[in-house]
Amino acid sequence: MRIDLERCNGCGLCVKDCPVAAISLQDKKAVIGQTCVECHTCFKVCPRGAVHDELVPVAGAKECNHCPVGCRIPEGLTGACGRYTNRNRQMLRTRPLLTYAEVAQELGPEPEMLIERPSITAIGAGGTYPDYMPAPYIVSHERDGVDVVTVVTEVPLSYSGLKVKIDTDLEVGREGAAISFEGRTVGMVETEEYGSKMLAIGGVNRLTGRHGFAAARAVAAIANREAVQLKVRGGAKLEIQVGKPPVIEGQMVEKMRVGCGSASAGLFATFFLDAADEVIVLDQHITSLFSHHASGRCLGLSPSGVELCFKQSTPGRYFGTHGKGWGGTDLADPLDIVSQVDISVTAPGSTLLITETTGQDAAMYVLGWDGKYQPTELTPKAREAVSALAETCQRSRVSAVYVGGAGGSARAGAVRYPLRLTRAVHQAKAVLTCGGSKVFVLPGGGITFYADVEKVRPGSFTWVPTPATVAPIEYTMRLSDYEEMGGHMEAIKPFQAEEPVPWNRCK
Ligand code: SF4
Ligand code: SF4
Repeated sequence: MRIDLERCNGCGLCVKDCPVAAISLQDKKAVIGQTCVECHTCFKVCPRGAVHDELVPVAGAKECNHCPVGCRIPEGLTGACGRYTNRNRQMLRTRPLLTYAEVAQELGPEPEMLIERPSITAIGAGGTYPDYMPAPYIVSHERDGVDVVTVVTEVPLSYSGLKVKIDTDLEVGREGAAISFEGRTVGMVETEEYGSKMLAIGGVNRLTGRHGFAAARAVAAIANREAVQLKVRGGAKLEIQVGKPPVIEGQMVEKMRVGCGSASAGLFATFFLDAADEVIVLDQHITSLFSHHASGRCLGLSPSGVELCFKQSTPGRYFGTHGKGWGGTDLADPLDIVSQVDISVTAPGSTLLITETTGQDAAMYVLGWDGKYQPTELTPKAREAVSALAETCQRSRVSAVYVGGAGGSARAGAVRYPLRLTRAVHQAKAVLTCGGSKVFVLPGGGITFYADVEKVRPGSFTWVPTPATVAPIEYTMRLSDYEEMGGHMEAIKPFQAEEPVPWNRCK
C-alpha cells in the first residue's frame, strides 16, 4: 500500500479502521508503518482514493490463505483478524483451541440431551477456507454409548449483526433513527421491547455498505463485551457495555422500570389505595390515573375529577409522549399531566401523588380552593408506595444477542450436502452452538441463529476486512446422522476428553 500525499486530506478513516494499527497521521497525512499486512482495508475505506494498491515486498512475509482477504503478514506479525501469526513462514494460530470443559462453567447447568454440548468449541479453531474444505476440527467420541461428532469452525459471516437491549425508560431516539459509531452509520433504533430500548447493529446491508468496516468493528467490540460509544441521530449519546448499566447522555441508568404506568397501577394497587386520594404513574407508553383505572375501581374507588392531557386508551390508561422528561415523557414538570380538576368531584384538600414507574422521581400535591395543586411533602404511606415501586425494579443493564446467518457456504466445511445439515438443525438432529453455548435457531429456511454474547467467552468474536464478523460455531450430532448427511468422514479425528487437543495446527 502507498499513500498519495497529494490526495490524502488527513481525515483519519484509515487510521480508525486499520485492524493492526499500522497507520498513523503525521502532519495531517496518513503514514503506513512496518506492521502493515496488506489487508487493503485502507485502500477500500479511503473516500479520496489516496491509498494506492501497490505491493511493498517485505522479506519473510507470508500470505495467509485462511480467508478471502489474503493478508501478507511479515515475520512475527499477526494478520488483520488477529487469528494467525507468521512464525518462520508458518501460519500459526494465535490462541489455543478451547474444549467444552474449559468453557462449561460459564454456560450454566449441563444440557440434558446427548448432542446438546460440543466436545470442543470453535474458539481458537481457525476458519474453513476455501469453503469446500473440511472444517479445521471434526472430532468424535463416545458419549453414553453413542458415537457423537462435533464439527467446529471460526466462520466469517457477512450475514451477521447484533440486537442490543438497553433496559431504560430514558429516550434514546426515535425508532428507525440511524446509529453511528465513530461518526459512521452502523445500525438503527428498533422497536422497543418491554421496558427496554432495542438497537440493531450491523447486518448484511451495513457490512457490505459504505461503512462496513466500522459496522464490523462495532459488532465485534460489543459482542466481546467491550465499552462502546454510539450516537443516535437526533437522539442520545450512548455509552454501552454488555453486562453493565447503560450511560445515556452522560447519565448512568440505575433502574429498569417495573412495567408501564398501567401495569404499575395493577401491581401496586393496594399501596396506591393508601398513598393519596389520587395517584398518577407517568410513563411514556401507558400513563395511569388510579381512581379511573380498573384496579382502583375494583378496590372501591370512584373516578376523581382529575383529567389528564394525554390521549385516553381505556378508562384510567393514557398513551404517553416520548421525551427527556418524567417517566420518559416530554413533561419536565410532572404536574403538567393534569389538564383540569373538577372541584365538584375532587374536593380542595385532596392529595395527589405523581410517580415515575421506576419510583426514581415522585412528587406529592394538595388541591387548593382555586382548583390548583400545590406541592407538599410525601406522606409516609406515599413514600411506602414509591419505595415498593423502586424496590421491585431490576437493575438496568445492557445485553446483546449475536445474529448469525450460517445457512450459506459455511455449511460446506461441515458436510457435502448442505441442505441436509440445514434440515438436521431444524429437526434437532444436529445442535448448533456458539462458543459452546446453545443458540436459538430462527424458524423457517436457512440457519439464522441468536447467540447470547454473555454466554460466549469474551474475545471469541472478531472481524475480517471483507468485511464480515467472525463467530465460533459448532455442530454436534450422532455419527450415524453425520454420515447420512454427507459428513467429511475422512477428516474425523478421535477426541479424548482427558488429552489436550493439538491446537496450533494449520492447514
Ligand atoms: S493495508 Fe491493512 S494493515 Fe496495511 S495499512 Fe492498510 S489497513 Fe492497515
Ligand atoms: S484476515 Fe485473518 S484469516 Fe483473513 S487473510 Fe488476514 S490473517 Fe488470514
